[in-house]
Formats: sequence, structure tokens, C-alpha cells
Amino acid sequence: MTRNTVMEHLHPTFRHKVELLLQDLANANLPFRVFEGFRSPLRQRDLYSQSRTKPGPRVTNADTWSSMHQYGVAADFVLYIDGKWSWDDSGERKKWWQQLHKHAAKHGLQPLSWELPHLQMQGLQLAQLQRGNYPADGDDGWAENLQQAITRWSGSPAAPPLPEALPTRPPLPPEAPAADTNTTALASQPVIKARVTARDGLRLRAGPGTSFDIKTTLVSNQQVFVLGQSGKWSQIDLQGDGLADGYCHSGYLAT
Ligand SMILES: [Zn+2]
Repeated sequence: MTRNTVMEHLHPTFRHKVELLLQDLANANLPFRVFEGFRSPLRQRDLYSQSRTKPGPRVTNADTWSSMHQYGVAADFVLYIDGKWSWDDSGERKKWWQQLHKHAAKHGLQPLSWELPHLQMQGLQLAQLQRGNYPADGDDGWAENLQQAITRWSGSPAAPPLPEALPTRPPLPPEAPAADTNTTALASQPVIKARVTARDGLRLRAGPGTSFDIKTTLVSNQQVFVLGQSGKWSQIDLQGDGLADGYCHSGYLAT
């Protein structure tokens, strides 16, 4: 069970804070990097079992669905020096970790007293997350990944609710110009064949954003045609007739 450092799997609000912090750290010549972001339920269970039912050092106090990592709102920052990860906090380096926490506080990122590298989004309650009260404004990169983790988990404790309570608004009428000013000239681009790489399916939306209604869910490996790009979204033609059917997040399409 490998570590996940995919920034798109973090909640966008938290992701933005992480990016600001990484910028601060770079400016201050502090060699920290994100060691781990989102964590799957299986990996959390595996880490939790260390020192309990499996050999190894104790690395977490949190069982499955009880770590902020599992909701994409926590990340571990570790020193990366000469191509190696380092948890060293002795001597001069003790100050570096203090600096990490100082910069983190500016962006509303909160440490845990017992886990030096860990930073999580301030003001969130684990019990709320476990009930499915996720932070507002989640995007598909975050939501699709969390959805996959939830649907693949059938163990105990039970998984939290799916992150589907995203804000919705009516789709634009077909002839209306796209709201997104980043939209490139869709018609002038060549049509590209693509395949859905999300194991549990990929949502097709009425527009290029999570605020648009879900029209249908494409199945894993389904072939589609990409008519154009709008930011991180691809405009999709399902039948290959050159007519747009909706938008999918490009992170789960392979061309
Ligand atoms: Zn952590």
C-alpha cells in the first residue's frame, strides 16, 4: 500500500493552503516536501495495525476513517535532503520543524502534538467528517477519489457517506456560451479518443465544474471522444457524432 502524494486528491481548500505553505517553505529555504496526503482506508488499517497486531513501530493513533488524511484534509510534511526523507529533529533541525509549524499556522494548518510532520485543516471535527459533513466547494479530483475509497471499503468501521452533496445548479441551455472564460475554441480542436480510468466510474456533468448537475456516470474503461478542454475539464462526446454530451474531469481520462 503505497503513499499517495497526488495533490488533486486533497480537498481544494486544503490543497490551496498546502500550496501556499510549500511556497513559503521554498522561500525560506526549508527543505520540506509532502510525504503523504490522502490515505486509503486499507493503508490506514495497515498503519494502525503496526505495533498492535503486526510488528513495527507505532505510527498512528487513528484507525480506519479516523484520520483526517482519509478525507483529503491532512498532509505529512517531511524533510527531503540529498534525495532522502529525514525525520531528524535534533540540533539545528529542531528549529526547521518549528518554522514549518509557524508558517503552517499562517495558513490555518494545524499540527498534532504527537506527530511532528502532520498538518491538517483547522476547524474541522472528525465526527463531522465521519457523518459526511465535508468542507464546502469540493471538486471532482477530490470527490471522485474519496468516492472510490468509500465504495471499495466494506470493512468495519463502516465508511462515511459519499461526497455527493455537492452544490448543484441548473445546467446551462445548450446554445449558451460557456461560463468559463478559460474555455478554448472547442470546435477548432481535433477530436481525441479517450478511455475512463476511474475504477468505479466517472461522472459526466452538464458543465466544466462540480457545481454542474451530474448527467450520468461513465463506466471504467469506457471509450469516449474529447472535443476540447476547459481548465481541468474535458468536453465529452459519447457517441462519436461530434456533438457534446457533457464534461468530465480530465484527471480520470487516458488519451
Ligand atoms: Zn499525518
